[in-house]
Amino acid sequence: MKVKLTKIFRFEASHRLDHLPEGHPCRHMHGHSYQVIVEISGQVNPDTGFLMDYGDMKDIVKPIIDELDHKHLNDVEGLNITSAVYLARWIWEHIKPQMPLLSRITICETGSTSCEYEGE
Ligand SMILES: [Zn+2]
Repeated sequence: MKVKLTKIFRFEASHRLDHLPEGHPCRHMHGHSYQVIVEISGQVNPDTGFLMDYGDMKDIVKPIIDELDHKHLNDVEGLNITSAVYLARWIWEHIKPQMPLLSRITICETGSTSCEYEGE
């Protein structure tokens, strides 16, 4: 049986998008209460009835989210452009090696926007 599971993580951070044209509001220092939806997909283990234990997901993802929480994202190593698109890819690249079942990262910067990344 193939299923998808998601777990939601949250963090607060500031950033600036310096490459945008003068006058764009995102050039200014500002912050978001980010929501990160981590999705995995695959075949359920019939012995456990799980695809993956949510606790194991947390053990892998939480330390990565902690690298971003209450930080200025422009200072995070490897995150040269701090748009939601590049943030989704940065999180993917840090989680995927430890979590092969990872199938999607969704970043919500606000209550009305989201960005989905499913790898290259
Ligand atoms: Zn922003």
